[in-house]
Amino acid sequence: MFLKMPLTNRKSSIVYWLPNENHKRYSLYLNITNRCCNNCYFCFRKFKDGIREFTLRLRRDPSFREIVGELQKVLRRKDWSEIVFCGFGEPLERMDCVLEVTRWIKKYSEKAVRVDTNGQGYLLNSGEEVAMKLKSAGVDKLSVSLNGHDKATYNQVCKPEFEYAFERVLEFIEEAKKADLETEITAVTIPEVDIPKVRELSERIGVGFRVRAYIPCFW
Ligand code: SF4
Repeated sequence: MFLKMPLTNRKSSIVYWLPNENHKRYSLYLNITNRCCNNCYFCFRKFKDGIREFTLRLRRDPSFREIVGELQKVLRRKDWSEIVFCGFGEPLERMDCVLEVTRWIKKYSEKAVRVDTNGQGYLLNSGEEVAMKLKSAGVDKLSVSLNGHDKATYNQVCKPEFEYAFERVLEFIEEAKKADLETEITAVTIPEVDIPKVRELSERIGVGFRVRAYIPCFW
């Protein structure tokens, strides 16, 4: 039996929830860091402190205990469609935390776990078998944002810290597929990105593709 929504939360949120595209169910999201090795010009966090009633700007990275403590409060409050690492930052900046929290989720729940990532896990965790580790911990799905159909466009849009970011994102997607993670590429509808070319890339690699609508920040 699940308790009824609505839930409200005014302080900085480590966990938050949003309706799915069909508005029939909710996904539960984990906001574990505000750090990111990209600096996309359209990044939501440049313009807002959060989404809906949730403040996603964190004063510091929460600990494993803090994340699990917040998860415990809501895990059984609704029939979440999935649990997603996605906040105001790149989750794989804290890969060990993603692994530990995923193991905890899989111990206490049968929900699917997804990581929304910029795909630079191998650059952020040098020498680690990132895709294999995610798979072994229990991650089911990866959603990799690729806002550029080539290196020049990616660099222009995402302004990555790492020189070979575009190439390594493509390698990450290949490795994720090899590790048998359900993987999709996403691209935002901004003028610089040739969406059909990104779709072609995903077809060539053999992973899913999803277009995400760009919501202009006019507030
Ligand atoms: S990859 Fe995501 S979190 Fe990082 S700057 Fe781009 S939009 Fe923001």
